[in-house]
Amino acid sequence: MKEKIVCPDCKQTMKEEKEMMVGDVLECRNCGCEVEILSVEPLKCRELLEEK
Ligand SMILES: [Zn+2]
Repeated sequence: MKEKIVCPDCKQTMKEEKEMMVGDVLECRNCGCEVEILSVEPLKCRELLEEK
């Protein structure tokens, strides 16, 4: 089964590529924030902050 990645910022379901891999970065089409895949099973991700 497939899990969805939800934008931590705007809670919008993010577009998935065919296969997600650890280290992939997805960009939210709604707010533009980036989320890095930390783990696929279980699915874990974190928001990439532009500042720093
Ligand atoms: Zn978003």
